[in-house]
Amino acid sequence: MKFNTKVIHAGVHPDTATGAIMTPIYQTSTYVQEEIGLHKGFEYSRTGNPTRATLENNLAAIEGGKYGACFGSGLAAIDAVIKMLEPGDEVISTNDLYGGSYRIFTTIFEKYGINFHFVNMLDINNIKEKINSKTKLIWVETPTNPMMNIIDVKAVCDIAKSNNILVGVDNTFATPYLQTPLDLGADIVMHSVTKYLGGHSDVVMGALVTNDNKIAEEMYRIQNSSGAVCGPMDSFLVLRGIKTLHLRMQRHCENGEKVALYLENHPKVDTVYWPGLKTHPNHNIAKSQMKGFGGMISFTLVGDQLESAKSVVSKTELFTLAESLGGVESLIGHPSTMTHASIPSEERIKSGVVDSLIRLSVGIEDISDLINDLEIALKV
Ligand SMILES: *Cc1c(COP(=O)(O)O)cnc(C)c1O
Repeated sequence: MKFNTKVIHAGVHPDTATGAIMTPIYQTSTYVQEEIGLHKGFEYSRTGNPTRATLENNLAAIEGGKYGACFGSGLAAIDAVIKMLEPGDEVISTNDLYGGSYRIFTTIFEKYGINFHFVNMLDINNIKEKINSKTKLIWVETPTNPMMNIIDVKAVCDIAKSNNILVGVDNTFATPYLQTPLDLGADIVMHSVTKYLGGHSDVVMGALVTNDNKIAEEMYRIQNSSGAVCGPMDSFLVLRGIKTLHLRMQRHCENGEKVALYLENHPKVDTVYWPGLKTHPNHNIAKSQMKGFGGMISFTLVGDQLESAKSVVSKTELFTLAESLGGVESLIGHPSTMTHASIPSEERIKSGVVDSLIRLSVGIEDISDLINDLEIALKV
């Protein structure tokens, strides 16, 4: 099955009881047992629920994996990955990553004796320098948030393999429409399903996908033991959202390109960070590991004044000021005071998140309306 068919059909079957073509919302906590231990594969909805299971199979298929597990949020999915480790283990992570991931690593798991190193993965040597016998996981985010750096996933996996280290990739920004990290050698793919997979800004959810039996066993054990699962209604909404993932992503990419080119030629804009631009420092890696460049764009303003950034984000109307991304509607955000406020300012600025940096999640509206909206906001 090709990708555009998988999003609609993979793992999804008409309901055996009624013939309903859409997966029913099995809004139930428990399941009848005809006699002790004799059931239809479901016992309790923390452990397994048919609506969630359908989504998990669909997600696994579109990422090119065998096993999928859904969680109550993207961070709950990351939580499950780190719980596979032991006290004393070390993790090497991208330095420029989602603020919430940084927060869970440093304020939750460091307390339990897991140590994190945040490195600039654009230079693979920075990873090599931190590897020792305690290194158990390399955590990659690409494109990174919000600087849109592109990490060479295959190169990271090659180093990891030769040192017996697992690689986890946060694939939230790219989605499997644009890149499939398992095919590049990664062991675990993670998603904030909240974003492009759900696609309609109406659900908070996370997911993990893997091909490895042992990792899958751990993943399901933690999902059931820690219990951070998602509900059947949310699973239904995401199943519905994923059916148009390919169409939405195609338009996100088209609109993203037009907005990036517009901003690049705007006199008030200093630097545009979008991996599809030839001037982007990692454009070639992006071209080799991604099928397109997506709808996430960051840019800075000439003069780098906090006030000018605040003015721009307050003036757009179609680009709504909000956290989050990946929905059909366009959003605008100010990373240094919003999504990345939890990262210490010194570290934030070092990774490029300066005061005038603005992040756009370009939606799938008409492109001329979007450009017009930016034109008005950048005028004054
Ligand atoms: C939003 C996001 C997360 C966290 O996901 P939630 O669903 O908000 O818990 C993790 N990584 C990236 C890249 C994100 O954008």
